[in-house]
Amino acid sequence: MLAPWYRAGECPGDGHARSRTFAVTNPATGETLAVLADASAGDAETAIARASRALPAWQRLSAKARASVLRRWFDLIVEHADDLATLMTLEQGKPLAEARGEVLYGASFVEWFAEEAKRLYGDVIPAHQANQRLVVLRQGVGVVAAITPWNFPNAMITRKVAPALAAGCTVVLKPSELTPLSAIALVNLAYRAGVPDEALQLVLSTRAAEIGQALCADPRVRKLTFTGSTPVGKTLMRQCADTVKKLGLELGGNAPFIVFDDADLDAAVQGLMRSKFRNAGQTCVCANRILVQERVYDAFLDRLAHAVSQLEVGNGLETGVTLGPLINESAVAKVERLVNEARSAGAQVLAGGQRHPAGPGFYAPTVLTGVDAGMSVCREEIFGPVVPVLAFRDEAEALAIANDTPFGLAAYFYSRDVGRIWRVAEGLEYGMVGINEGAISNEVAPFGGVKESGLGREGSKYGLEEFTELKYLCLGGL
Ligand code: ADP
Repeated sequence: MLAPWYRAGECPGDGHARSRTFAVTNPATGETLAVLADASAGDAETAIARASRALPAWQRLSAKARASVLRRWFDLIVEHADDLATLMTLEQGKPLAEARGEVLYGASFVEWFAEEAKRLYGDVIPAHQANQRLVVLRQGVGVVAAITPWNFPNAMITRKVAPALAAGCTVVLKPSELTPLSAIALVNLAYRAGVPDEALQLVLSTRAAEIGQALCADPRVRKLTFTGSTPVGKTLMRQCADTVKKLGLELGGNAPFIVFDDADLDAAVQGLMRSKFRNAGQTCVCANRILVQERVYDAFLDRLAHAVSQLEVGNGLETGVTLGPLINESAVAKVERLVNEARSAGAQVLAGGQRHPAGPGFYAPTVLTGVDAGMSVCREEIFGPVVPVLAFRDEAEALAIANDTPFGLAAYFYSRDVGRIWRVAEGLEYGMVGINEGAISNEVAPFGGVKESGLGREGSKYGLEEFTELKYLCLGGL
């Protein structure tokens, strides 16, 4: 069942001592998919040493040469999209069509940064003295450590590794221990495309805290890029202080999804279904709190209940399934706790409200009504297929509720009033705003958050700059 390039002994990471191993399991069935070597902090240090050894040669290549390698990597990912998607559904659970969508979305970053690699322009500044010339270069930051999560086992890697390699950096990658097989496959394809082995180092480990400490403490690592939970992001930020590393952090969100009474309600329900139920609600940009203006509250709920009843829950490999399992049982237990707390606090269950009989990893798609903004289901990131709906009176109240959170990643709203669109878009304290749109991420636009949702942007022209430093040259005595 496993893709042909996964063979023991050929897997990046297998160089590590096999004294400890860990199993990779299928969240839909509980079946063991693979057993891998569990790297130690010492292995991470070896990986850093290799990546720093590879740095000068990779840096010296022309931008065009690096771009060609990345372009080949893109072609190989697309060529193997079906295998990569199957591997992802097996280890992560998302429906196969969604997994394929993620593989192509992940590949789009490789293509984009292959193109952008050639456009890393500097600047010439008109000098303030006649005998000087002032020039600004953009150079790759050096060795980059990337720590990635399990919810997008492919795209969170390509969105970091492709711009790093494009900018002339080398990379030590620690993917989630829950989804290492997609990472292995991607890295092997990168090697086939011509990325030198040492320039992209894979560290597979369940000892995330120890590996994280090793990566943060090492002065040879000049940038840490992380996607994951806010508490871990804060720990990593503290740990990077001693070596003053450049940081890219994509952390948690608590996205409001606001439906104003002038909205196209069918479009709003459609957008909400895309934003909420993709990946079984396990994305950091998933709608977390649904705010509906009083006048359209009942009409919106009718349409929503119908759309939710159409979801097909099951093993993502089966045809027709649109909602897979959560990543593991502790994820199910968290969702269960949030729903139970909301019910005890007075929320009503319009749909679902319990685990799903498909298996221990599944939770039924759920709609909660009569929700209050102070409930834990509105304050915490749910990361599951639960839609808490609350009513609001006017624009000011909607904005106040939406902004009352330490997070600031994505927000969404539906309205047809052009004045309101500008006012609300400018008033939302978020890094990204979907307006009459529930799916907003792509390779050409800057992805990232404000407040405790993170630092920096990924994708787009800005995402390449994040992996560079400016160097100012002052040529005197002319
Ligand atoms: P999620 O909720 O998405 O699992 P985490 O922040 O727990 O978010 O995990 C994201 C990534 O961070 C994973 O690769 C995980 O192994 C890693 N990780 C978890 N804890 C730590 C830590 N203390 N230091 C470094 N990395 C960590």
